[in-house]
Amino acid sequence: NTPLHELDPDVAAAVDAELHRQQSTLEMIASENFAPVAVMEAQGTVLTNKYAEGYPGRRYYGGCEHVDVTEQIAIDRVKDLFGAEYANVQPHSGASANQAALFAIAQPGDTILGLDLAHGGHLTHGMRLNFSGKQFNVVAYHVDEAGLVDMAEVERLAKENNPKVIIAGWSAYPRHLDFAEFRRIADEVGAYLWVDMAHFAGLVAAGLHPNPVPFADVVTSTTHKTLGGPRGGIILARSKEFAKKLNSAVFPGFQGGPLEHVIAAKAVSFKVAASDDFKERQQRTLDGARILAERLVQDDAKAVGVDVLSGGTEVHLVLVDLRNSELDGQQAEDRLHEVGITVNRNAVPNDPRPPMVTSGLRIGTPALATRGFQEDDFREVADIIAEALKPGFDAASLKTRVTALADKHPLYPGLK
Ligand code: PLP
Repeated sequence: NTPLHELDPDVAAAVDAELHRQQSTLEMIASENFAPVAVMEAQGTVLTNKYAEGYPGRRYYGGCEHVDVTEQIAIDRVKDLFGAEYANVQPHSGASANQAALFAIAQPGDTILGLDLAHGGHLTHGMRLNFSGKQFNVVAYHVDEAGLVDMAEVERLAKENNPKVIIAGWSAYPRHLDFAEFRRIADEVGAYLWVDMAHFAGLVAAGLHPNPVPFADVVTSTTHKTLGGPRGGIILARSKEFAKKLNSAVFPGFQGGPLEHVIAAKAVSFKVAASDDFKERQQRTLDGARILAERLVQDDAKAVGVDVLSGGTEVHLVLVDLRNSELDGQQAEDRLHEVGITVNRNAVPNDPRPPMVTSGLRIGTPALATRGFQEDDFREVADIIAEALKPGFDAASLKTRVTALADKHPLYPGLK
């Protein structure tokens, strides 16, 4: 029963340093968030010790009576949260959920139609080196000149290629997708519609983004992005039509024992996500992203070649377009890091710079909203970012402003 700091000071020191990093800098990676202490507490419980292959009430191991309770709570809560008739809370990650979902509704060699990675799609939607790109025949759709998903192209490619599955979802896209239109196109060509809502699930839970569940055959998500829970994945469906196939794709198809400690933490996060506080937080997330987009299209930003893809945002992130800036994505990411703001560089559609450099930034507001940031705080952050992207920026004074914001909204004050 030796505590971590005594048993393994090396690991403990790195964990402490990471806590300090999270507390003292501004986290604006769009796919990150801060899990509540109760979620981390659930994840750090004895449930990690339990084997529970199978599903609640139908396990391959004895002694599952308590993990059956937590897993069933997670299932019931997430079904309620999103209005789904089916839920599987076992996928270890978003990528695992996607793998199981795809193999449940399609066979290797089938054609899938998804958003191009370079235009905001995810690796699991058909990237060449991913299982999806290696085992399926991939056709990709794109965004148009205005930065919006080109639904005319989706329809044309669907008719030309008769995909088994159409994938709607993204990792870097600042607008709502038209789920009804995706459904119409899928029906027209006899395809299944799979929506990957990993990024915007928290907004959906709060009722601040269209819910894909009524439109899609299968919906997957992560639980750790806007949804704000532990790192993990889920699969949902509006009906039980694919329940057997989805369950058996997860276990025994791709996974063995579920991570019951993580599933308990998911259950806690679904309770949080059903609350009024969560809704208010998601509203601040959206307000923060809108404030940032509005700041980065002002004349002083435009004058140094900074712009915003699609001209704004309807979600929790802003895609900064640096094609006309002297700074490339890497340099811009480094500059913001220097002043204490963490973001990631991101390719823009038809990016002239190589993928390791890029001409864009993806900047998200979920983690700062969780920290308690209000509109005036987001205005200050937006201003710091706009200043940092100008030539001759003053790193020291911007860093002081970042530290003042971090101090104003302490993160995990009880943790040391
Ligand atoms: N799907 C989308 C749309 C994502 O953006 C991501 C992660 O970035 C994933 C799936 C994969 O999630 P994970 O990293 O948990 O495997």
